Amino acid sequence: MFRIGEVDTATCYDKLDCNYIRAVEKSGGIPLPIPLLSDINKIEYYLELIDGLLLTGGKDIAPSCYREEPIEETSTCKLQRDRWELELFKKAYEQDLPVLGICRGLQVMNVALGGTLYQDIIKQYGQTQTHLSDEEDQYARHCVELEKGSKLFDILCTIDQLEVNSYHHQAIKDLAPQFKVSAQTEGIIEAIEAPEKRFIIGVQWHPERIFADNKCFEYLFSNLITAASEDTPLKTANNKYK
Ligand code: MN
Repeated sequence: MFRIGEVDTATCYDKLDCNYIRAVEKSGGIPLPIPLLSDINKIEYYLELIDGLLLTGGKDIAPSCYREEPIEETSTCKLQRDRWELELFKKAYEQDLPVLGICRGLQVMNVALGGTLYQDIIKQYGQTQTHLSDEEDQYARHCVELEKGSKLFDILCTIDQLEVNSYHHQAIKDLAPQFKVSAQTEGIIEAIEAPEKRFIIGVQWHPERIFADNKCFEYLFSNLITAASEDTPLKTANNKYK
């Protein structure tokens, strides 16, 4: 709290790309941005409020979260955000809450359940395909191959190949056992899903930025909202609602 006349020298902002908010709203959902709090126990309160979770893009996850030392190419991280989102996803997973993870969000999902990351695709995987444009803030484009029979395959108009945008220099290395790959390109994992859950899907690309380009990307959000609107969770072998 500040008295009148005091200057707030510690002004800072929790920012969120409005493309996420618009994509959720246009898909019939009510977006509710969740701020990062210092007390991780407060996650419970947010989980009571929401019916589905969208994990957004952002900076690299601290390699200590997956038991590795950082390499030079790993960008500045915010450990508070890492801890908050890793716990948020773990709880959402336990409760079988519908989740869509985008870019860093997909990586959070994997790390939260014990998976690891390539800290830099070029340095540690050696792939030549461009996942990040040379120009500042320019998205690259490449095709991904969808896994037939996956939920993602059904959602994305049941096509084998899809051109996506790409803005990442990290990727999944070891996949957590709860997930299966639902799209890849030249050995790099581009999408994952949890087969035992109602709707837990992560994509490495940014559908919120090409929302209007292709119905396929809109379907990702509308299916998240549909899953979130269902009152009764589906019964599966691993879920506590059984
Ligand atoms: Mn990519």
